[in-house]
Amino acid sequence: MRRLCVFCGSSSGRDPVYAACARALGVELAVRGVGLVYGGGRVGLMGEVADAALAAGGQVTGVIPQALVDAELAHCGVADLRVVASLHERKALMAELSGGFVALPGGLGTVEELSEVLTWAQLGLHRKPCGVLNVRGYYDAFLALLDRAVTDGFLSAEHRAIVTVAGSPDELLDAFARYEPPRPKWDRPATSPP
Ligand code: AMP
Repeated sequence: MRRLCVFCGSSSGRDPVYAACARALGVELAVRGVGLVYGGGRVGLMGEVADAALAAGGQVTGVIPQALVDAELAHCGVADLRVVASLHERKALMAELSGGFVALPGGLGTVEELSEVLTWAQLGLHRKPCGVLNVRGYYDAFLALLDRAVTDGFLSAEHRAIVTVAGSPDELLDAFARYEPPRPKWDRPATSPP
C-alpha cells in the first residue's frame, strides 16, 4: 500500500494512551514507507499522527477544506497540503489518494468518515481495507452495534467482516495486507462514490 488514510480526533482525548497510539501509527507508517493521508489539521490526534510521521521522515498529505484553513487549524509543517472547497470534496480526495482507511479514536467527524468508507466498501464502490485501531477498547460499542445489526437482520455477516479490528499499528497494517474484499451488497457496484 502506498498511502493509508487515517481518520482521528481533532481532540486528543483524556487518556494519553490515545496520543501515544497516534504517534506510534505515524512512526510505523514512516518506517514501512507508507504515506499518511489525513485531515490536514494540527490539533488533537491529527496533529500527533502527522507530527510523528514527519519526524520519522514519512510522507504526509493533508486534505483540508478552506473553512478549516481559515480557522487557522491547518498544519503548517505539512508541505503537501491540499486545500479543497468542502467536506465532501475532502472525503472524496482522501479516498482517491489512499489504499486503505483506519480510524483511531475520535468524535463525530471520525465516526462519520469511518462509516462512510465502510458503506462504500459494502456497496463495492472501493475494494480497499478499512479498520479501527481499538485503543483501550474505544470502538467496542461501535462494533457491538454492528453485531446487533447482524443479529437483527440489517447487516450481513460477510459485510460485518469488512471492519478490521487491531490493537496496534503493526497488527493493523499486516491485517490490511491480507484483506480480501467481500462481494458487493447488490452484486452490481455503482460506478463511483457519491
Ligand atoms: P472529530 O472526530 O469530530 O474530532 O473529527 C475529526 C475528523 O474530522 C478528522 O479525521 C478530520 O478529517 C475531520 N476534522 C474535524 N475537525 C477538523 C479540523 N479542525 N481540521 C482538520 N480536520 C478536521
